[in-house]
Amino acid sequence: MDVGPGEVAHVGVAPPPCRFCGSGLEHVFADLGMSPLANSNVPGERANAMEPFYPLRAFVCASCFLVQLEDFEGSEHSFGADYAYFSSYSSSWLAHCETYAERMIERLGLDGSSQVVEVASNDGYLLQYFHGRGVPVLGIEPAGNVAEVAIARGVATRVEFFGVSSATTLRSEGVQADLLLGNNVLAHVPDINDFVGGLKLALKQGGTITIEFPHLLKLIELNQWDTIYHEHFSYLSFATAGSVFEANALRVFDVEEVSTHGGSLRIFGCHADDPREQTDAARRMLDRERAAGLEDLKTYREYGARVVADKFQLLEFLIGLRRAGNSIAGYGAPAKGNTLLNYCGVGPELLDFTCDASPHKQGHLLPGTHIPILPPDALAQRRPDIVLIMPWNIKDEIVGELSYIREWGGRFAARSPELRLLA
Ligand SMILES: [Zn+2]
Repeated sequence: MDVGPGEVAHVGVAPPPCRFCGSGLEHVFADLGMSPLANSNVPGERANAMEPFYPLRAFVCASCFLVQLEDFEGSEHSFGADYAYFSSYSSSWLAHCETYAERMIERLGLDGSSQVVEVASNDGYLLQYFHGRGVPVLGIEPAGNVAEVAIARGVATRVEFFGVSSATTLRSEGVQADLLLGNNVLAHVPDINDFVGGLKLALKQGGTITIEFPHLLKLIELNQWDTIYHEHFSYLSFATAGSVFEANALRVFDVEEVSTHGGSLRIFGCHADDPREQTDAARRMLDRERAAGLEDLKTYREYGARVVADKFQLLEFLIGLRRAGNSIAGYGAPAKGNTLLNYCGVGPELLDFTCDASPHKQGHLLPGTHIPILPPDALAQRRPDIVLIMPWNIKDEIVGELSYIREWGGRFAARSPELRLLA
């Protein structure tokens, strides 16, 4: 069997059709092997139990360039309705949300007669800023325990998944949005056409959609392949997001770059027949993606080799530090850390432990690698020589918070694009 880089070895299950356009998928973008679900931290008492591993392989569609994970057995059941992630924990994210709310109220002239609807509204962390300024809000959130927190702070929330079916119900009840928004949800939905079709139905005539998602251009340029994990089905360029909107009688007319998650896009959408014209920013973004090769299959097929090179570099880096007698701890237990550690095969022999501020994660083991998760004060007690920051997207914030490690000569290391010791 002759299989070159970026080609599929024909052993196993045939790849599915493209989630968006239905074309056959033939080209691998990144193959991260078998991996446990990223957020399935293992409670201490389950340390000796079996853990499921699933393929973590991203394909690119040669027709629409949507980068996407293949389905895996049980994927539709894997992400429970109750989970321990409350986004209110990050102060930089909250500041980002408040600024967004203020700007949108001003830009769209929202007031007490407007309706803001947020899809995947979590614990109401964002809608609270509209609600607090007298703009009526409605959140749609599938996780019941998280929605309860939102409702307790006065943010009206429905517990359901968003799509054509729930949007049809909203519409029949007379609810349509002047501003319809979704942050970090577009990439997480398995059926992207059902989701965007729902946006079409839930948007008032003349209304505005804003959607934020991590930018595929950044994933490629900055080697952010550790942001590939099972919950994250699609990896979108601006151009492909525009195609998905157009296929659902919507249009993307503007774009902003935002710094969250290592580089995201906020796209602005409207009905296809809306008179608003495409902005210069939107045209420039399309040009930039084209110049970066995002309309060339070769760009995607060559990416996998960079992932392998990164793995070698990470292992050489950690082994070199260890051989020189350094102790190494991690900081954070984000999904991206699990992709990194599992793909690279890094266990407690290289990384003694990691720390996380979330009490929901402390006292657990990272999935697969079984690196223990301790409270942050373990750093002061154990005084590691090196602290590897897993959530590199907020590394500046973490370096500021943990500057005390320098008291014992501790140093930080982080990725993005390449792993190095920080100055
Ligand atoms: Zn496609």
